[in-house]
Formats: sequence, C-alpha cells, structure tokens
Amino acid sequence: MLLGGAVWAQAPGLAPAASGQGWSAPGPAAQPCPRALAVQTAAVAQLLDPPPRPGIPAYGALLQTSGLGWPRLDQWCVWLEPPAPGAGPNPWEQRWQGALEAALASWAALLPIRRVQDPAAAQVRVWRRRPPLGRDGSGRSRASHGRALLSLMVVERLPGRWRLEPAVEVLVGPGQRAEALQATALHELGHAFGLWGHSDNPADAMAAKPGALPVLAPTARDRASLAWLYAQPTAFGRPTAPPLAPSQSPQERGQGEGDQKAQQLH
Ligand SMILES: [Zn+2]
Repeated sequence: MLLGGAVWAQAPGLAPAASGQGWSAPGPAAQPCPRALAVQTAAVAQLLDPPPRPGIPAYGALLQTSGLGWPRLDQWCVWLEPPAPGAGPNPWEQRWQGALEAALASWAALLPIRRVQDPAAAQVRVWRRRPPLGRDGSGRSRASHGRALLSLMVVERLPGRWRLEPAVEVLVGPGQRAEALQATALHELGHAFGLWGHSDNPADAMAAKPGALPVLAPTARDRASLAWLYAQPTAFGRPTAPPLAPSQSPQERGQGEGDQKAQQLH
C-alpha cells in the first residue's frame, strides 16, 4: 500500500466490476471517487437474515443483508483518519497507521479499493478511536477495540445523479499491540466491505470471537464468503431517483459515532 496514494487492485477470482455503473460517463474530468455533493439517508439500516438457500460456501449463509439488499459496491473509496495535525511523529499513531494500511492492503488484493484524502469522497471512513462500551447478547457491557457502523444512503456525486451507497464508519482504537491492531482492523474492514456477519470458525478473520493467534489476512473461507457475496445482485452503486426530502450536506454525516439509523457490529 502506498502511503497517501490511490490504490487500485482488481479482484482476482471475483466478478469484474459492471461497466457503465460507475462514474466514468462524463469524459476526461471523470474520477473514480468524486466527493459527495449531497447525501440523504435512504432507509434505517437493519441487518436481516436472508432466506436460507442450499449451496452457499464457507460462512456465506451466516452473512446478513440490509433491507435494501446486499450492502456492497463494485468499487470502494476509503478514507483513513490522518495523524493529528501539528504533532510530531507519534509511535502510537504510526503503529495505528501501519496496522490499518496493512489490513486495507489485504482487502485491496481481493476487492477494488481506492484510498482518498477527502472523507466526503469515501464510502468507508476509518477513525482512530476506541468504540464506546457496547452490550453483549446477555446485556453485559462489553469492551471492544473495533466497531463498524452501517448506514444506507442516497448520494449525489455528480450533479443530478444519485445512487444508493452503503456508508460505513469504522472505529479502531489505538490501544493494542501491532498485530492485534491489524487483526481488529482486518475484521472491522471486512464488515465495512459487506461481510455483515461472523464466521463460526475462530481461525477466520471474520470470527465472532478471535482465536489465540491474531488473524492478519483473509483466510480461504473469508475469501470464499466474500466471492459469494460479490456474486449476489445488489441495488447498491446503481443509479436511483433523487430523494424527496431536503438533502444533507456531506458534513452533516456522523463524525465517527453512529446515529440511530446506523446498524453496528463489533
Ligand atoms: Zn465483527
């Protein structure tokens, strides 16, 4: 991964991005990650169990979908929170940046992912912040180092052209050793790129509970589940009608804390 540079990786073994669905239409000025001109919540983000079907590989059957379909894109634009301005080199920030870069590079080997410097150009925004205490299934408070929050948005990225997008805020706290940090980042980014569910095998990056060793790259089962997911049809990334309600400016979107319309996973 190039620091601060745009990254493009074609996904080996995955379906190629559908042509004509992106932002390539308007000629030489077209760019792959235009900043949002306006955004609007499309629907309350709810994660739903899809109807059971036979023959789904790996843990694909454990993945959840949204009320508007599988929240995945043919290409992702990703923003990482930069180091605090004015501060000198800080070993904690550098470790966080390095771990996030490495985790992102693992997914970029499987999915078309571009780094952007402008958060308004991104669908996935990663914040250097420990998530607030959550509750586990039994209602006890549960500390975690990472969280991914999904919102479903309609976004105007070219004048008059709206499309449906998942918007994901990823929180990864800096207070972990480097390998644990990378494993957390890999897991939360897996959610962000559409793996909204957990593997039942602790050896996988997307395991609900991490195993004894940090998982630093997607396993064969992670890759098989991802490939299956990206073969499913989706309305995300496709043109949609402009929203009826007044739109928000991109700055009004959350600053790393989910609103009530977001759905979250650890
Ligand atoms: Zn998780």
